[in-house]
Amino acid sequence: MVAMLASCNIREPKVITVDGEMPAGAMGKTLHHEHLLVDFIGADSTGYHRWNRDSVVEKVLPYLLEIKNMGYKTLVECTPAYLGRDPKLLKILSEKSGVQLITNTGYYSAVDAKFIPEHAFNETASQLAERWIDEARNGIEGTDVYPGFIKIAVERGPLKEINRKVVEAACITHKETGLTIMSHTGLSEPAFEQLAILAENDIHPSAFIWTHAHNEKNIDKHFEAAALGAWIAFDNFNPERTERFVDFAQQMKKHGFLKKVLFSHDAGWYKPGEPGGGNFRGFTDIENILMPALRDAGLSQQDIHILFVDNPARALQIEKRVVN
Ligand SMILES: [Zn+2]
Repeated sequence: MVAMLASCNIREPKVITVDGEMPAGAMGKTLHHEHLLVDFIGADSTGYHRWNRDSVVEKVLPYLLEIKNMGYKTLVECTPAYLGRDPKLLKILSEKSGVQLITNTGYYSAVDAKFIPEHAFNETASQLAERWIDEARNGIEGTDVYPGFIKIAVERGPLKEINRKVVEAACITHKETGLTIMSHTGLSEPAFEQLAILAENDIHPSAFIWTHAHNEKNIDKHFEAAALGAWIAFDNFNPERTERFVDFAQQMKKHGFLKKVLFSHDAGWYKPGEPGGGNFRGFTDIENILMPALRDAGLSQQDIHILFVDNPARALQIEKRVVN
């Protein structure tokens, strides 16, 4: 009876993969920001006619099997709608590889809104949120695939009207669904502008992943955002950035913020329109280069576990992070 009551009372954190709900603790070793397919042709021209799923699977599957063999259990696929998000493709790739995949809802309003569909210019933030909430409740485009987070993007400089609108829409969606907001951001100015919009909507900064934060050179800004509770994502690792990533991990650890750091490659991906899907960058540099460098610099196995297991799970767990 006691055990039963205890299990009733403990609400285990969940995440949502392309296969549905799963305990956040089952994510295991995770790459929190990668891409399997990206189509940069623009919102007015992209669509499923742009690629053949069988060809994509043939090209991409070996890269997923490669990381599966390294012990990775989950890959977060960060390609938004109108940039090549394909729930059916992700479902096939997850089944064939055994790697748990997480997809998203939301719109990408960087790059002069090239990837924003026409309707989003006329609709209000609430109307956009209604579309995203509908995906979270009923599945994406009639499939049984549900988004596991909200992916948005804003411009590098001060937020424009369309950027503001997608951030507002993300806030409304978060409050309804508990999906975390991952925002392609870069510099600190738009990062803090977005955190201010979250605050206006009574949403705690821990609902926000400051994506591409490695573009900001002033680490005090990272400390400041981490102190508020936001997630700081250095997500574009390549071997040339080893020193920068290691130094960042050390500094964040020293200041007590390692539990707010997310690392990934932002690598991949199949490119529709290019012969054979073009050049694909795999997902192994972190394992082969960054992890040994982190250990050499004095980070423990537990620190590495925090970075690649605990943090992605906590960042993506479904939770309405509302400030009372
Ligand atoms: Zn990305």
